[in-house]
Amino acid sequence: MSIFNKIGGVASDVSRNVNEKTKNISDTSNLKRKIAYEEERIMEIFADIGRTYYKTPEKVDELKAYCEDIDTRKKRIKKMRFELQTMKGVKICPNCQSEVDEKFQFCGVCGAKLPANEDDVV
Ligand SMILES: [Zn+2]
Repeated sequence: MSIFNKIGGVASDVSRNVNEKTKNISDTSNLKRKIAYEEERIMEIFADIGRTYYKTPEKVDELKAYCEDIDTRKKRIKKMRFELQTMKGVKICPNCQSEVDEKFQFCGVCGAKLPANEDDVV
């Protein structure tokens, strides 16, 4: 086909690479923002639980829903943290919080076993 198509192809390849890098950075900050949001919400829900219990202690059963909401958000945070670590190619030691290369199974600082998948992330 014409040379213009070829040039167009090269140009879009280049911009795709740039986009991917930018995407990675924005993905990371997006995730960090989402984690911060979930953490904030959890604090608000904790406050809601306290307020509800203070005003209507007889409605203690209703507080279960709040607790489940917190659990769901915590799981979400765990997943996002794992995603973040995978993007950076690292694992966080559950014992000493050191950043360790993801290829290792044990922490080089304290020797603790590192999480193998998102379920193990603390
Ligand atoms: Zn460690």
